[in-house]
Amino acid sequence: MTLLNKLAFTADIAEKFQGRKASVSKEVSDSVEKIIADIRENGDAALFNYAEKFDDAKLTSSTLTVTPEEFDEGLAQVDADYLRILERTKAQIEEYHAHQLETSWILPKESGEILGSIVRPLQRVALYVPGGTAAYPSTVMMNAVPAKLAGVPELVIITPVKSDGKVNPVILAAAKVAGVDTIYKVGGAQGVAAVAYGTQSIKKVDKIVGPGNIFVATAKKLCYGAVDIDMIAGPSEVLVIADEAANPKYVAADLMAQAEHDKLASAILVTTSDALVDKVNAELDRQVVTLERREIIESSISNYGAAIVVDTLEEAFDVSNDLAPEHLEILTDEPLAKLPFVKNAGSIFLGEYTPEPLGDYMSGTNHVLPTGGTAKFYSALGVYDFVKHSAYSYYPKSVLETFKDDVQTFAKSEGLTGHANSIKVRFE
Ligand code: NAD
Repeated sequence: MTLLNKLAFTADIAEKFQGRKASVSKEVSDSVEKIIADIRENGDAALFNYAEKFDDAKLTSSTLTVTPEEFDEGLAQVDADYLRILERTKAQIEEYHAHQLETSWILPKESGEILGSIVRPLQRVALYVPGGTAAYPSTVMMNAVPAKLAGVPELVIITPVKSDGKVNPVILAAAKVAGVDTIYKVGGAQGVAAVAYGTQSIKKVDKIVGPGNIFVATAKKLCYGAVDIDMIAGPSEVLVIADEAANPKYVAADLMAQAEHDKLASAILVTTSDALVDKVNAELDRQVVTLERREIIESSISNYGAAIVVDTLEEAFDVSNDLAPEHLEILTDEPLAKLPFVKNAGSIFLGEYTPEPLGDYMSGTNHVLPTGGTAKFYSALGVYDFVKHSAYSYYPKSVLETFKDDVQTFAKSEGLTGHANSIKVRFE
């Protein structure tokens, strides 16, 4: 079977790959709106009702938060080697993200005025950690470590309660390693609304980050404004640029690693070698039968996979810059030398020993990335998402005097005589 279709790059192709969004039905947005209104009106009581309805669990004010004993219990269930891996991951993410720390700056002028900017962390942030069947401790690390580095003093996790009233032990372990010690056992749209607006037991936060299903994503969108949110991630994608010397076995494996996320995931090969496409297709056939998520992989590659053959590497980068992929792998001769050609990509993986899954977990770079072409204007999640900047200025009288006429004229030109007056009264 030929999984990867050879396609020419056209505007239609770009639209197809960038438009892969799970659509939000009116039913979902109406029900999320109702849930948010209910939480705003009834607070904790509504939260407990939803825990029973959606998670089949009984919650009360005293069982809403994970206790130190529950943390210990959870940690005891996690393998020591797994804890070591989490610690190693944390160190890797910390080392990379430390370079993103911004410092306050000051501009003192000879004439006496002083200008500057102070960087301050957000004070309260909630990280949504999906419940459901799969647990994603890597997501805890990728969000919590930059927030902690930024200096966020109150970082809390919200996550659906399991029917036994507990939280998945690997989530507890990742939270502990990342330094988060407050976990509220609430998820879904109701959990998002609870941290966005506050309830009797849960304090309102300034920002909500982290992935979740369609109810969670819709609730985040609807609460935006009351709180800040991170980006709303769409289906995942990889674009591999490869020359004739690239190893087809690695190319195929990396395309499938992305394709296994879900049926809307996209995996695109852009290459200067027609022969490579045939070899990659043979490898896809050979390897896919060994993978547990074969059905998802076959569906996403045949619907949203493509091989685009171009004449030159420059053209390959033009295609990639147009698509602005979430993940870009460069499997060519001298991959580092190709960096200057990249204009738009969420995260770039250079050379055959930097496969994208390394970045999902442990290379140190962040795995929360812009999707669907939004790498043209969004960046990877980083420390900068957890800080804000306040400008400040100090003017002595002697300097204000040199500006007084100009500012008054400017203000009057905008019809704001109160503004002009604020300057004028100081020199009467
Ligand atoms: P989840 O925590 O996102 O959602 C579970 C909650 O959804 C439930 O507790 C319930 O409150 C709510 N819910 C379920 N059915 C509902 C209904 N009919 N009406 C109202 N609310 C309802 O967990 P999940 O469902 O397992 O989804 C996890 C999601 O997170 C997946 O879509 C996965 O792809 C995504 N994810 C993405 C990344 C990433 O980095 N992009 C990482 C991890 C997970």
